[in-house]
Amino acid sequence: MVTAADCGEGTRFDAVVAGAGLVGLATAVALARAGLAVATVDRANPADVTNSADDWDRRIYAVSPGSARFLSAIGAWQALACERIAAVESMWIAGDAGATLEFSAYDAGERALAWIVEERSLKSALREAAFAAGVVLREGVSCERIAWSDADAVLTLGDGNDLAARLVVGADGLHSWVRSASGFDAKPRSREQLGVVANFATALAHRGRASQWFRDDGSVLAWLPLPGSRISIVWSAPAALARELTALSPEELAGRVGDAGGNVLGALTPLGGAAAFPLHSLHVPSPVARRLALVGDAAHGVHPLAGQGVNLGFGDAEALADVLAERGPVADCGEALLLERYARRRAEPVLAMQTMIEGLGHLFGNRSRTVRALRNAGMSAIDRLPIVKNALARAAMH
Ligand SMILES: Cc1cc2nc3c(=O)[nH]c(=O)nc-3n(C[C@H](O)[C@H](O)[C@H](O)COP(=O)(O)OP(=O)(O)OC[C@H]3O[C@@H](n4cnc5c(N)ncnc54)[C@H](O)[C@@H]3O)c2cc1C
Repeated sequence: MVTAADCGEGTRFDAVVAGAGLVGLATAVALARAGLAVATVDRANPADVTNSADDWDRRIYAVSPGSARFLSAIGAWQALACERIAAVESMWIAGDAGATLEFSAYDAGERALAWIVEERSLKSALREAAFAAGVVLREGVSCERIAWSDADAVLTLGDGNDLAARLVVGADGLHSWVRSASGFDAKPRSREQLGVVANFATALAHRGRASQWFRDDGSVLAWLPLPGSRISIVWSAPAALARELTALSPEELAGRVGDAGGNVLGALTPLGGAAAFPLHSLHVPSPVARRLALVGDAAHGVHPLAGQGVNLGFGDAEALADVLAERGPVADCGEALLLERYARRRAEPVLAMQTMIEGLGHLFGNRSRTVRALRNAGMSAIDRLPIVKNALARAAMH
């Protein structure tokens, strides 16, 4: 095996990870800590992390306790500044006809239902963990060509350099170049919706409570606690509504967001402007092919309403690293039987999450009055069944 120390251009790696987003970086670190020589390539250059008290990243993630444990095991969670992380201690959900449902971390026997973390801080922590684990990072350069032989795969970069590896990991997001270049048919399907994100200071304390409204205009609004009296919102809205929201001034948007949430945290003050991200779904029948494994959004796209996309990706990273660490006498980490083992390990959790999220989307997207009454009755019924409720909360957390 090539050791990370002597890896340079032209060296053969055990694994090359294409894409150094959160999932690609986590995969690279986990594989390197499992003893593999790993290189990672990303077309973007890393962003500066400022972390000043009034500058909060609009891209935030609800990281599940299961993912937090994995990030801790690979040495990234510890590098996050604890004053930039908020615990979601309870989650309150409102249906579109008066029903409500509340989950509590205390009832589920956990410290938090999820942890709210800024993307740039988590990425920076993962980059540090990658350097510490000896991952070779190539940033600001695209993957442009891929070729396979019996013994390895060769990735050609935009600067003309080649990286050869036993295994290529496609972690290059929803519109994955690696996935298309490897002959997968699957393509992301637009939901004709955008996720509008923005941060606000609140007049009243949120007390670690996240709130989510399934609204009768077909949109879903989530308020997520940030440290102090601040929240971050994700408003998943049909394209026309999303365009209307992003055209508002920050102050007008604050008023609109406050009204939509019944002003439960008093007046909102904008912390910067809003941004919008198109929402897609993606189903890939199998995340593996010859000397190739897909992870993260390259392998599956889910609606952000359950805040589970990156958590599914961290699950992929952990499973792939575990399979390769436990490969025993199989020297070649791109061996088909190992990749099939990874695919089998991820099939059930990914399908279960996709089915649950798609199901919720269809249920709340249906405009029939009968379906509306039924879904709200179902929510109220679950709210009165603590055993079912806590089982649901635990499934989402792990
Ligand atoms: C509004 C919104 C809110 C969300 N909130 C949550 C949440 O709270 N919790 C949660 O779990 N999930 C959430 N998600 C989902 C989450 O954002 C994604 O699941 C996650 O970012 C996927 O990470 P990734 O690393 O797989 O892909 P990406 O973040 O897309 O990273 C892909 C990387 O690959 C690089 N790349 C692409 N092409 C190439 C190429 N040809 N060569 C080299 N590099 C390349 C890109 O530069 C990028 O760095 C949310 C999504 C949206 C839209």
